[in-house]
Amino acid sequence: ERNMGSEYKVVLLGEGAVGKTSILLQYTKRKFESDHIMTIQASFRSKVLNIVDQTITLNLWDTAGQEKFHSLALVYYRDANAAVLVYDVTDRDSFDRVQNWVQELVKNVDGKPILAIAANKTDLPKSQHVISSEEGREYAEKVGAQFFETSAKDVETLNPMFLHIAKNLQQQH
Ligand code: GDP
Ligand code: MG
Repeated sequence: ERNMGSEYKVVLLGEGAVGKTSILLQYTKRKFESDHIMTIQASFRSKVLNIVDQTITLNLWDTAGQEKFHSLALVYYRDANAAVLVYDVTDRDSFDRVQNWVQELVKNVDGKPILAIAANKTDLPKSQHVISSEEGREYAEKVGAQFFETSAKDVETLNPMFLHIAKNLQQQH
């Protein structure tokens, strides 16, 4: 029996400048921009995945910069099926604040969203990294999230993360 396919809402969360918009741009358009911080006009971008005999549409929500104020409109969280928590491996504050974003999410979403943590900007020289893989992985385990090391410059680091989310959503529903 063929499934007609399903749509899911996936929200990106994390401090400003960690690379949320860049991750979406790379994942949905294979583009990276280093010179300016882009603003996405629409509230989300869609990505269609075919997994076995099912079509899965991920509606990937990005902020328009409101994360600077450490809070987002409730509509952003509403009915989210999954969340990607992003931090910058060269910025400890962005890592420390992931837990605030987890709290905001839990407070504002019904049910139990699939969680992924993206330790982003891993392409930068190791000498600049201030959060180790172990520390990131340990935290992810604590909050029940799957841990991914990503670079918005390299789609090969992003595909496994979104595939993981899609497969988990598929299994859950
Ligand atoms: P956002 O505020 O979380 O949406 O972050 P942006 O996507 O706007 O990225 C902020 C800055 O970091 C931009 O200058 C990006 O080019 C840069 N950036 C984002 N992701 C990466 C990455 O994985 N590696 C590197 N080297 N730079 C990145
Ligand atoms: Mg952005």
